[in-house]
Amino acid sequence: MVVIAVDGPVGAGKSTAARLLAKRMGYAYLDTGATYRAIGWKAHAEGTGLNELNEEDLASLCTRTRIEIALAHDSQRIVVDGKDVTAEIRTPEMSRMASAVAGFASVRSYLVRMQRQMGINLEGQYGGVVVEGRDIGTVVFPDAPVKFYMDADITERGRRRWEELKGKGLEVDLHEITRGIMKRDEYDKGRSVDPLRKAPDAIVIDTTGLALEEVVERMLKQIPQGTR
Ligand code: C5P
Repeated sequence: MVVIAVDGPVGAGKSTAARLLAKRMGYAYLDTGATYRAIGWKAHAEGTGLNELNEEDLASLCTRTRIEIALAHDSQRIVVDGKDVTAEIRTPEMSRMASAVAGFASVRSYLVRMQRQMGINLEGQYGGVVVEGRDIGTVVFPDAPVKFYMDADITERGRRRWEELKGKGLEVDLHEITRGIMKRDEYDKGRSVDPLRKAPDAIVIDTTGLALEEVVERMLKQIPQGTR
C-alpha cells in the first residue's frame, strides 16, 4: 500500500511540500486537517462556542455531517453538507475550532476511520497517496512505507502562516499569529488522544531556511525506488 505520511506542527511547510511531492510522483494528496476543520466549522455554524464543545454532542454532530473532499489536480475542495467551505475553514478562528474538536476522542475515531477509507480509495485510484496531518504515521497509517516529520523554527513558522493569511486578504498581526501557533502546537502535542508526535521510523526534515524545491528534493531522495 503506497502511502506517504507527512506529519508535523503548524507552519512547518507540510501542505505545500506534500502537494508538490504528490504532483511529482503522480499520487493523490489528502489533507486530513481539513476534516477536523469541517467538523469545527459545522459546530460553529450551529452556534456552538469553543467552550461549549462536548463529547456527546460532537459524536452526534459527526454522524449527521457529510464531508466530501473533491480532488482537482493537486488541490482539494471541501464540501460540508453540500456547501463548499474550502476558503471559510482557513481562518484563524476555524484553526482554533479545528484544534479544539480534534481533542475529543469521538471526533478522532470517526474521522480517522473516514481518513483511512479516503486514503485507501485514493491509493487505489492513483497508485499512491501523500497524506498530511498530525497522526498519520502514528495512528491513521502506522504501516506507511515512508513517513516524514516536518518541523521549522517557530519564528519562521509564524512568518509563513502570517504571509499565507495576508495573501488571502486577511488582516492579521504577526505576533498574534505566532502566539496562536504556539498555543495550537501545545494543545496538539499535549492532548491525551493521538497527540502530535514523531513516529519512531519517521524521517525528520527541518525546513527552516529551505526553499520549497529543496524540501521536496530531500523528500524524493528518501523515497525508495520501488515506491515510485
Ligand atoms: O493541518 P491543519 O492546520 O489544517 O489542522 C487543523 C487542526 O486539526 C490541527 O491544529 C490539529 O489539532 C487537527 N489535526 C489533527 N490530526 C490531523 C490533522 C489535523 O489533530 N491528522
